[in-house]
Amino acid sequence: MFVLDSHCDTPSQIFRLTDIRKKNERGHVDFPRMKEGGVDGAFFALYVPAGLSPDESTAYALKLLSCLEDTVSAAKDAAAFAYSPDDAMCNQEKGLLSVFIGLENGAAIQESLSLLRQFYRMGVRYITLSHSADNAICDSCAEGKRWGGLSPFGKEVVKEMNRLGIIIDVSHISDASFWDVLECSSMPVVASHSCCRALCSHPRNLSDDMIRALAAKGGVIQINFFPLFLDEGFSEILSESGLEDEGEEIEKEFIADPSDAGKRQAWYEVIDRLHALPRPSYKRIVDHIDHAVAVAGIDHVGLGSDFDGIAVTPAGMDSISDFGKIFDEMRSRGYSENEIAKVAGGNFLRVFSRVTKMF
Ligand SMILES: [Zn+2]
Repeated sequence: MFVLDSHCDTPSQIFRLTDIRKKNERGHVDFPRMKEGGVDGAFFALYVPAGLSPDESTAYALKLLSCLEDTVSAAKDAAAFAYSPDDAMCNQEKGLLSVFIGLENGAAIQESLSLLRQFYRMGVRYITLSHSADNAICDSCAEGKRWGGLSPFGKEVVKEMNRLGIIIDVSHISDASFWDVLECSSMPVVASHSCCRALCSHPRNLSDDMIRALAAKGGVIQINFFPLFLDEGFSEILSESGLEDEGEEIEKEFIADPSDAGKRQAWYEVIDRLHALPRPSYKRIVDHIDHAVAVAGIDHVGLGSDFDGIAVTPAGMDSISDFGKIFDEMRSRGYSENEIAKVAGGNFLRVFSRVTKMF
């Protein structure tokens, strides 16, 4: 069994001066706690915020990648990059954690297939086509006004990603973009961190039709741990608390100046207040697994926590060290060890192998 988390925003934490080589109570992911949680590898996303200019987007992704490379090269006894499923197996044999690189927001490639190829050469193995705004590639689920789906350039991007062997990630993109990608891509695609819309009606989640179509193409839906995507009840609790707007401002100030101890403390206080709200249990993650399995089958579901990109986690799932609780809950619901291994990472690695044309 290889346990893989397909979406962690950990490079953003590193950027905010967190040293993930040691245990950090405030972040969700670090190397010691990956080991504690039995997680063998994770995609670390280079998350590029929407709203930056094209050049700023590229520069931001490169800075995150540089921080990540510094960290991994300074942790040779604990972790190593994995650019293929084979690399991941080698790392596991050596007792090393695997760090895979994802790019969250295709804005960083601007309107250039050369930049796309360069990100591949630098180790990026999936690209989330958009984030919270429409970009040159496609529309986002948060806007959806610019192209009505994939742009003409976006169609070229999909073809070039297929040719190179970069996984296409449909999380964050609009429904119309999703259907265009499915039509355009000759390879299976993934939703690296999305939940089921049937259980929680949020545009970031996938409808049953979308999950079925993703599976029919051989892809996977990787269930997100964010309470807002897991449970509609939490959305009401959060808006009543007023913490969303208040927290956004405080977070912005902290991100702009992470070395300022006062701003850091103010942000930590928001996080503590968020965690004091009644949160859904981590078992809700398994409800989404159950649903996706019922819709698409056991071969098309996995886990993409969104750790370090979400301010609040489900109750009982404080960090990546709690990952194994999901498999215990699956066991108690009657899943076999073979089925658990598929959800834990086998399904995602199958898509990764297929896209990189190893089979
Ligand atoms: Zn995301």
